[in-house]
Amino acid sequence: MIYLDNTATTPLLPEVIDEMNRIFKQAWGNPSSIHSIGQIAKAELESARNTIASVLSAKSSEIYFTASATEGIGLMIPNIIKKNQIQHIITSPIEHSAVLKTIQHCESVEVHMLDLDKNGAFKLSNLEDKLSHCKGNKLVVLMHANNEIGTLLPFKKVSELCLQYEALLFCDMVQTIGKYDISFSKTNVDFAVASAHKFHGPKGAGILYIKSGRNYPPMIFGGGQEREMRSGTENVPAIAGMAKAIELAKKDLTSRSQHIQHLKSYFTERIKEEIPDIKFNGNSQNGGLYTLINISLPLKISPEVLNMKLDMAGLSASQGSACSSGVMKNSSVIQYLYGENRNALRLSFSFLNTIHEIEQAVDILKNIVHKK
Ligand code: PLP
Repeated sequence: MIYLDNTATTPLLPEVIDEMNRIFKQAWGNPSSIHSIGQIAKAELESARNTIASVLSAKSSEIYFTASATEGIGLMIPNIIKKNQIQHIITSPIEHSAVLKTIQHCESVEVHMLDLDKNGAFKLSNLEDKLSHCKGNKLVVLMHANNEIGTLLPFKKVSELCLQYEALLFCDMVQTIGKYDISFSKTNVDFAVASAHKFHGPKGAGILYIKSGRNYPPMIFGGGQEREMRSGTENVPAIAGMAKAIELAKKDLTSRSQHIQHLKSYFTERIKEEIPDIKFNGNSQNGGLYTLINISLPLKISPEVLNMKLDMAGLSASQGSACSSGVMKNSSVIQYLYGENRNALRLSFSFLNTIHEIEQAVDILKNIVHKK
């Protein structure tokens, strides 16, 4: 099977599995227990926090552990709204459903959607216009990179505008943490989320970053873990695995990203040669997030049939937002931008993929199109 669905999740690295096994065996205590077995687990927990903080140039006190990015989004956005008496949220219609559905359920705020072009990008003047017209407390919620078409946020300019208009900035960095060199000490983001399973770590571990100096009320009540913010016994093995995964991602950032960019440009070149009337969705072909490409094949078959053909041929790729369900759902992002489903197919790469696999993937797609 050729796995080109690394935006949905990535395979665990052996070093991560070893690290998790070490914790399972040696640090299985409850980190809130005050005896030495508990304190061993506590030390591992805090060591993982320090590693993650150091990789992201943040303070350890700015890092909170969650079970997923969805959890960080769903619990923190309402918390920010309540604590800061937010009246306006400025966001985009192609955010992840965790963001859009959470915002939909926040009753006391007015939601302002940015206007997007066909590539899913907005004009900074549109953001500035909304920031200047919204009177009262504002929260901007935008993803660093879109998980379906790869649109990248002009992060520096957006954060400068937020500072200028005194808006808080919440950034979904699920597709960029572990793929880019992110330094929180050099950015003006107030809140961010990430997810270990997107950078070769385990499922069940996420990061919530909260810029220091802000005290927030608990998101989950109970034993007071995570400095009272998120009660519940921490998943120490998964958190330690996440720390190992982010450490490796940082160490090998350049070689991994160069390799992935090479795979992507090779795929783009070859697929255009083999299927000249292929369409590219968003601007993933000419920049954007380097880990993915979104295409539409010149085929008149249902997404279900395409999925079956791909699976039978041994290619795992994604149609629509794979992280949301196990059922076949058209991509809401493609539908929003183009007004039609387009049989969009997202192929996303990791440093574990090889040129040979890309060649095989091109062959599979070519054969499906030419009905061989
Ligand atoms: N945000 C983005 C951009 C994503 O791609 C995903 C998952 O694909 C999420 C949020 C949700 O992350 P998690 O799986 O940790 O809940």
